Amino acid sequence: MRILIVGPPGAGKGTQAALLSAELGVAHISTGELFRAHVDRRSELGQKVKQYLDAGALVPDEVTNAMVAQRLTDDVCRAGFLLDGFPRTVGQAEVLENLLRARDCEIDTVLEFDVPEDQVVARLLARGRGDDTEDVIRHRQQLYRQETAPLLSFYAERLVTVPAVGSVPEVTARALHALRTRA
Ligand code: ADP
Repeated sequence: MRILIVGPPGAGKGTQAALLSAELGVAHISTGELFRAHVDRRSELGQKVKQYLDAGALVPDEVTNAMVAQRLTDDVCRAGFLLDGFPRTVGQAEVLENLLRARDCEIDTVLEFDVPEDQVVARLLARGRGDDTEDVIRHRQQLYRQETAPLLSFYAERLVTVPAVGSVPEVTARALHALRTRA
């Protein structure tokens, strides 16, 4: 299974992606986590991207695409994966299509987590990660609407929308049901 998770910051993508990937037996690949791990170990890439993460801005495509290309190893099509946080723009989606085509596969399903914006802002303020201050949150929401939401039409034929309001296990159950009834 090759799945993308799309939804606004604070929709619970990371939490759900970890639970769903364990349940489905596929790798969870999160670009946000990959970037944060680089920042924590102060790698060269980490030093390059820290300013973007802190500002809630998109990391430039050449950096992001290269990191993803490296992470999508040759066996990734066979093993399956759940990709969380990439693509975030239509340009990145086109790069991903080409990367997968070169490995002879494609994305099966795009899982959208749908949550009203006032709820996601409240959740992020409560979470309190370094980039969860009010201004930075607002900027990330705006980027989501402008840059990432167009992916929903790009992937219209593979899109499954899951209401992401409710408890964590409720949302997981809903997502699994949506994936299984579609497969
Ligand atoms: P959230 O969904 O709460 O925004 P993520 O962990 O997905 O959190 O992303 C955190 C930050 O990592 C983003 O604000 C951005 O700076 C960077 N980032 C993650 N994925 C991408 C991507 N595909 N393209 C550019 N920047 C990215």
